[in-house]
Amino acid sequence: MQNIFESNIYFKSMVSCLVHEMAHIYGAPDHYHEWTNEEKTICRGGERCKTCHPDTGRSESCLMNVGWIDNIEVENKNTLFCEECIEDMKEYVAKCYKNK
Ligand SMILES: [Zn+2]
Ligand SMILES: [Zn+2]
Ligand SMILES: [Zn+2]
Repeated sequence: MQNIFESNIYFKSMVSCLVHEMAHIYGAPDHYHEWTNEEKTICRGGERCKTCHPDTGRSESCLMNVGWIDNIEVENKNTLFCEECIEDMKEYVAKCYKNK
């Protein structure tokens, strides 16, 4: 068994997590399915959740849905995020420049 706390292995396994959290900084929202209350009426992903909204929800392969991708370094960088999350991040960055 590999030791996950060996620094390079730990870093490698954390990369997708860091990319996910960085994307939040740029305005991309979580859209994975997770009940946030005991009654199971409120989903974390809200309108964007594909499980709750199969027709209109965002792609489940998006990093903001899975939160974690093994071997992210070999994934196609152009398909890590769904179109909507990419638009959210573009809007956010555009706003940053507009206010300066
Ligand atoms: Zn998140
Ligand atoms: Zn949901
Ligand atoms: Zn997304």
